[in-house]
Amino acid sequence: MFCWLSRLYLGFSTPTGRITHLIRSSLSRTLVLTSQRRIPEFSSFVARTNTCGELRSSHVGQEVTLCGWIQYRRQNIFLVLRDFHGLVQVVIPQEESTASVRKILCEAPVESVVQVSGTVISRPPGQENPKMPTGEIEIKVKTAELLNSCKKLPFEIKDFVKKTEALRLQYRYLDLRSFQMQYNLRLRSQMVMKMREYLCNLHGFVDIETPTLFKRTPGGAKEFVIPSREPGKFYCLPQSPQQFKQLLMVGGLDRYFQVARCYRDEGSRPDRQPEFTQIDIEMSFVDQTGIRSLIEGLLQYSWPIDKDPVVVPFPSLTFAEALASYGTDKPDTRFGMKIIDISDLFRNTEVGFLQDALSKPQGAVKAIRVSEGTKYLKRKDIDSIRKFAADHFNQEVLPVFPEANRNWNSPVAQSILEEQRSGLIRLMEIREDDVVLLTAGEHKKACSALGKLRLECADLLEARGLVLRDPALFSFLWVVDFPLFLPKEENPGELESAHHPFTAPHPSDLQLLYTEPEKVRSQHYDLVLNGSEIGGGSIRIHDAELQRYVLATLLKEDVNLLSHLLQALDFGAPPHGGIALGLDRLICLVTGAPSIRDVIAFPKSFRGHDLMSNAPDSLPPEELKPYHIQVSWPADSEAEKSSLNQPSHPES
Ligand code: ASP
Repeated sequence: MFCWLSRLYLGFSTPTGRITHLIRSSLSRTLVLTSQRRIPEFSSFVARTNTCGELRSSHVGQEVTLCGWIQYRRQNIFLVLRDFHGLVQVVIPQEESTASVRKILCEAPVESVVQVSGTVISRPPGQENPKMPTGEIEIKVKTAELLNSCKKLPFEIKDFVKKTEALRLQYRYLDLRSFQMQYNLRLRSQMVMKMREYLCNLHGFVDIETPTLFKRTPGGAKEFVIPSREPGKFYCLPQSPQQFKQLLMVGGLDRYFQVARCYRDEGSRPDRQPEFTQIDIEMSFVDQTGIRSLIEGLLQYSWPIDKDPVVVPFPSLTFAEALASYGTDKPDTRFGMKIIDISDLFRNTEVGFLQDALSKPQGAVKAIRVSEGTKYLKRKDIDSIRKFAADHFNQEVLPVFPEANRNWNSPVAQSILEEQRSGLIRLMEIREDDVVLLTAGEHKKACSALGKLRLECADLLEARGLVLRDPALFSFLWVVDFPLFLPKEENPGELESAHHPFTAPHPSDLQLLYTEPEKVRSQHYDLVLNGSEIGGGSIRIHDAELQRYVLATLLKEDVNLLSHLLQALDFGAPPHGGIALGLDRLICLVTGAPSIRDVIAFPKSFRGHDLMSNAPDSLPPEELKPYHIQVSWPADSEAEKSSLNQPSHPES
């Protein structure tokens, strides 16, 4: 009679099913642990007495009222009721006298909302389900009410049922019913709560909201433009509350924080959203060490209890060290495979492209060691790695097998002298079966290429079953001493800020600002977690003259646009600094979600659309009139124009 249960749990024993089960117990654990600390009352003020997921043997004999969605029904004998907390088995009464209850529970379609009242009873011996947190009990129902019936759904609300992301986003309110989404959003809420507690209650920060209707500001990301009713005047959505938080310091609100919504019109990238959330922080009278300790304490305090604890202080690397060892300013330090400079071994090489690179300024020979590469990488992998380097970086990559008798596709490797081979073995601590990937060129370019190949190799090795990046490991890293300026991508003769134009120069490089500004290091710091940048900030310029010089002379910006800030700096601005943590990315890494869209309740699609409501949407010309704007339709969009007043279809 209980075969439906074993069938259900056969589902759970598939990989996705198992994950669902883990999430569910993890969700329960998180909630229980939270309740041990704070005792949240999940059933206050509402019709239920308990949540479906909380019932255990200790509740046996209690009269309960539960509200939830019908997850499953089996042979009109049992139904499984679900709420955010978990699943519980309800026994459908079979007696003649309970015909009306039976009718409701047997006829309501799956995902209908019902309220049931009854007694918690132990399951008959042998019929317990150890995989279900509530598996020792069931509900003997006395009354039932259908609160709302459910029509045929576009997809099943079961975590193990696969659905396309477009469909999930189109019916987001249904997708949110999944245990995975419930877990992600509840964990997010708990972390933010703990952050508020740490900042406001333990450290005296003030939570202040800043405007989202602002104006165009120089530097940084592209902003979204909002028309106003004044002809030719536009607001912009702020890319961050940067100016406001600095102005708050001038205003004496010397420890500010905000869970701030930020907007950047930057097109699609996998880990970006056009609107996203930052934990935005600013403090007066602080230096880098102070900000770093604050953030380490904040993360430690708010870290979920069911994850490995955060170890502080976080290690740090300078920007130059990160680039030299990992080829990037956001290294994934969960694994080694660092870039090694082997230029000195090859000063008298016969190999043309190495010779060529070493004869140029900044030229170098660099390599990474792929441990046990000959065991795990196939020849076609090495070929694809070489092609990747050629296509993306225009870099030649040479595979060398110093201790193995293999020379795939690399006749050049034969020109490597015995002393170079033994030098390599010593310098890179080569063991049998290791592969060395070697490249040469300008320092930064060679490092960037190897940095990418390092990650490509990690992907390939992991696809072959090696674990390089432990999913339970959280490897934090501070990256410091960034350059203050970078050459502009579209015009390398000009400078742009590496962080933003309010970042203070490194005190020891101050004089260089007037002679060789491109060499100035800044007081900018980034926080990296497992190879993703999850935060960044800086000590700010609080001297109006210096700020004016940076903006006008070095960055060639129109200072009039920032006259309010420059003026404020002149009126007794305290020294100050701050940071912003990217909340979406942080939660995505903590939950192990495949995309930041999975930790945002209503995210935009990859192309920046809301697939549920179909935003952005067109407006008829008469509604644009008050804003004094007119659409200049591209020639091929006549169809779009004529569909203005018709409902449009979401992207698929
Ligand atoms: N406003 C900066 C950003 O959004 C963070 C900061 O400098 O505090 O990246």
